[in-house]
Amino acid sequence: MTARWFAPALLAAALSGWLLAVFFADVSWLQATTRIIQDSFLAALKMIIAPLIFFSLLVGVLHLRSAGSMGRLGGVTVLYYLTTSAIAIIMGLIVVFFIHPWTDSPRIAEMPAVTAKLIAAEDGSVAALLGGILQSMLTNPFTALAELNILGILTSALLLGLAAAWALPKDSIWPDLLQQITDVVFKCASWILTLLPLGLFAIAFQLTGRINFDTLVSLGQFALVVFGATAVHGLVVLPLIAWLTTGISPVKLFSAIGQAMFTAFVTSSSAATLPLSMQAAVEKLHVHRDKASFVLPLGATVNMDGTALFEGVAVIFLAYMFNIDLSPLAIVVVFFVTMLASAGAPGIPSGSMAGLQIVLLAVGIPLEAIALILLIERPLDTFRTAVNVEGDLVGSLIAEKYT
Ligand code: ASP
Repeated sequence: MTARWFAPALLAAALSGWLLAVFFADVSWLQATTRIIQDSFLAALKMIIAPLIFFSLLVGVLHLRSAGSMGRLGGVTVLYYLTTSAIAIIMGLIVVFFIHPWTDSPRIAEMPAVTAKLIAAEDGSVAALLGGILQSMLTNPFTALAELNILGILTSALLLGLAAAWALPKDSIWPDLLQQITDVVFKCASWILTLLPLGLFAIAFQLTGRINFDTLVSLGQFALVVFGATAVHGLVVLPLIAWLTTGISPVKLFSAIGQAMFTAFVTSSSAATLPLSMQAAVEKLHVHRDKASFVLPLGATVNMDGTALFEGVAVIFLAYMFNIDLSPLAIVVVFFVTMLASAGAPGIPSGSMAGLQIVLLAVGIPLEAIALILLIERPLDTFRTAVNVEGDLVGSLIAEKYT
């Protein structure tokens, strides 16, 4: 996924699918072939997504065991990561609640308005809706995996992960074994994602009849909303948290972490930026090396404020474009699933795309909707990764002060 050719290939694929459809939309064999490619690609994604979520979350929770054994440092770090991710998503959702210029333009889907299937309850009362969510969550793990019931999969993985973290002896081979299984599943996922340009080409061809200039304008508006909210989080919220908790001024903060943020911006990868983040934390923010070596690697995978915000806003945007009614409870589901999905995203370019699919599936938005986001995803990744890294570095300062 990180190969250099990948981003240009995605763009070229989307453009050629679109161009071909502009000139040859009525050619029936092209229609049929691209439909088969699109459907097979989406089926392959669906095939891998259940084990991917299940094992990565299970292993993620098991890793938190090390946070538990880090005592106060682990507690403060996890609390900070959870709080700032929650603030980022809530801010994204509030912003998109007030600013959604695309609702003036026509939707993409011709399909009739559907209510997210997860929240469908007979009498529509809050109790019945909550009951429906609980039913989905408390499903036997095998059924949840087989039926791609996202809430069920997340609940089983969390529960089993916590139980394993609690019950397994220190020298158990299970954490390593599960990590290896997760690596294998990730390998399969990366093979499928290598085919993404082909899939995107077919999806772009199929979508083109439904995309017009208005859609592209809406996409630009979406990008501006994400960009604006991410900027507020990075330039106001995080510096404010740092100032209120540790007394560091924004100027001092940015001059210490600017280089790491810039590297994150350029590489779109929190993981690749880790050496520079470590250097900034230890040499410029004067965080103890042992604390930084716990907080930053953990943050590079589980703490992604920019990603969380992006995913929350993207889901609301796609729900509108694809004519899906999101009830207030669906928004609550978006909040929780986005928290988990952003924590599970690897710190690599476009790392959040798998997580975004999870959130889409959780509220019943068709997976091909992601093709729309892919058209604008690369430039947005730069900013959100910089804010992801900023969040980790502020976390290291807080850990230094309070542990
Ligand atoms: N590129 C991001 C990171 O490395 C992950 C993502 O949001 O795609 O932090």
